[in-house]
Amino acid sequence: MTKTHILVTGASRGIGKAILNSFDSDTVRAIGQSTSGETGLLKSDFTSADEVTRLWQEALDRLDGRIDVLINNAGIFIPNPITNSEAEWLESWNRTLQINLTASAQLCRLAVQHFHENGSGGDGGRRIINIASRAAYRGDGPDHWHYAASKGGMVAMTKSIARAYASEEILAFAICPGFTMTGMAEDYLESRGGEKLLQDIPLGRVAQPEEIASIAKYCALDAPASMTGAILDANGASFVR
Ligand code: NAP
Repeated sequence: MTKTHILVTGASRGIGKAILNSFDSDTVRAIGQSTSGETGLLKSDFTSADEVTRLWQEALDRLDGRIDVLINNAGIFIPNPITNSEAEWLESWNRTLQINLTASAQLCRLAVQHFHENGSGGDGGRRIINIASRAAYRGDGPDHWHYAASKGGMVAMTKSIARAYASEEILAFAICPGFTMTGMAEDYLESRGGEKLLQDIPLGRVAQPEEIASIAKYCALDAPASMTGAILDANGASFVR
């Protein structure tokens, strides 16, 4: 059996680490990325477009020239109050869009081009999974316009890719987690008061990274082709659409 080759961004911690750890090494060869490139991860800082391109090439080199599945998970969630100076506000806006959306788009483009050149290598076909957010549909708080916009863009991009390449069995999915227990959410839960926030989640708790990872794994390996273009919510029914 040919192993499925997978690149996971933002794999040093949180959801990305759980996704990387979810794969069985008997059937999958997965490689992860982080900004510092610790312990076997590839190093790439997505504030630089050149580093994103270099990451793709390094991932290909490490995976013997074939990537079957791209999982865009890396992202930041940094407050950007409108009371910031215009220069600060714009700098923060651009940084979030660059890391959360533009870098993902670059990797999607490189992946589709690679899929076109290489055909299908693994058994599961060629797939892109984008980790977006509940904020894509619901919007976010007053300090996070940029975050919601980046995730809304990611969802729209995923649908476009799904529609454009379905006839070639290039599949695209997005996952929209609500609060998930990672470093990203902990800071926010502390600053906003955890109890009040939990009252908005009918399930009564935030998601665990392993729950989001199980959805990503399903999309990467098992989801049927007819599901392409699906945007999967995982938010404890805190935003039902
Ligand atoms: P996290 O624990 O903060 O981890 C973020 C990951 O992104 C890390 O691996 C980090 O690498 C990487 N990263 C950060 N800045 C980067 C940069 N400049 N260039 C390249 N990589 C960078 O995040 P998480 O909570 O697991 O979230 C993962 C994804 O899920 C994100 O896209 C996030 O928007 C989305 N999401 C999260 C939640 C939530 O509540 N946690 C909810 C909805 C959606 P380093 O370790 O090297 O910094």
